[in-house]
Amino acid sequence: MSVKKVLTYGEKLLREPSKEVYKVSKKIKDLVQDLFDTMYTKNGVGLAAPQIGVNYRVFVIDASTEKEPLPPMVFINPKIIKKSGAVIAQEGCLSFPEAFTDVKRYKNVTVKALDIHGKSFVMEAVDGSLLAIAIQHEFDHLEGILFIDRCVNRFDADNVLQKHHLPPVEADRIIEDPILEAELNND
Ligand code: ZN
Repeated sequence: MSVKKVLTYGEKLLREPSKEVYKVSKKIKDLVQDLFDTMYTKNGVGLAAPQIGVNYRVFVIDASTEKEPLPPMVFINPKIIKKSGAVIAQEGCLSFPEAFTDVKRYKNVTVKALDIHGKSFVMEAVDGSLLAIAIQHEFDHLEGILFIDRCVNRFDADNVLQKHHLPPVEADRIIEDPILEAELNND
């Protein structure tokens, strides 16, 4: 397959909700391969289909680290069915080259999705691990939500974006999740 161009923040397609996949066809399998090829070439941890201009509910993750080796993972039509705890972690995104900022996330998530064979699976990612964060980050892409929408500090995020010649934070898109806020205040 091939390495695709990754859309950069400011491009409209990144803000569009993606469509369900009805059948894990050859077209979808090719898309998955393109996502992996592109993600590995650009040294990403995850990549969602809308980032290469394809608005289907598909993303891939490779959250393997030296400490915790993990296989490459495919998520088709994912749903986050459980979430708990809260964590603040620095995130980046291949659609925001070299820009990093602190983001609010759930610490533990359970996701249900289809794999590359169209088979349903359920996976739990805990402890604010790279995998837990990546699942939430990539899932958001399918809704047209970007990590800066969940930033801890809008002014810091704006500074970082400006430094990297990216458009500013869109204030009306900032997400205040009351459950997550309550969890953060509990800690
Ligand atoms: Zn991203």
